[in-house]
Amino acid sequence: MAHPDDPELSSGGTIAQWTQEGNVHYIIVSCGEKGTWNRNALPFMVAETREKEARSAARFLGVKKVIFLRKPDGAVDAEGCLKIELAVLIRHLKPYTIVTNDPWYRMFHPDHRATGQAVIQAIMIARDWHFCLSLAEIGLKPHRPRELLLTPTDKATFINDITTTYAKKMKAIKRHKSQLKLLPHWEKRITRYVMDYGKRINVTYAEGFHKMRL
Ligand SMILES: [Zn+2]
Repeated sequence: MAHPDDPELSSGGTIAQWTQEGNVHYIIVSCGEKGTWNRNALPFMVAETREKEARSAARFLGVKKVIFLRKPDGAVDAEGCLKIELAVLIRHLKPYTIVTNDPWYRMFHPDHRATGQAVIQAIMIARDWHFCLSLAEIGLKPHRPRELLLTPTDKATFINDITTTYAKKMKAIKRHKSQLKLLPHWEKRITRYVMDYGKRINVTYAEGFHKMRL
């Protein structure tokens, strides 16, 4: 996903379930070094803080590993080498499911669109022999993930009950301490968000994704 807090905000409850059943890896595209309202803060210090917070939240949820690609915050480029880096990691980690930002969601942050687009291109590169031939040459054989989940989205087609892991999601979000003041009333907003999805499947709390079979 694009930024260090994106996984927990969008899918923390689902991740807390998945880590009970298998391996979850995070790939964080940008460290979000511009994510501060303090004019005097140094971006590289913000990045360091946010990496630590992301590792802490991931550890709390039982995530196996967090990989930071350290692309510039606010200037993630879907057309550069990002898609190759992601393709390398897809062939290496061999995921069944990939979760990323929905590039078609009406959302302010351009990094979310760029990340979603780069992931989709990376899946193409990763799954067939004739893309990026150097990968096979170094032993990274094609891998075809089975499903892609896009979130946040305004076209949810897969709604996952997180009633049992809602509390864990909220605690994981709290690990992103430096970001909480940038998200006024976040507890209320996130709770409303997961309750709205919950209503759609008659449970208390849920997270929504646009699911694509690959
Ligand atoms: Zn984000």
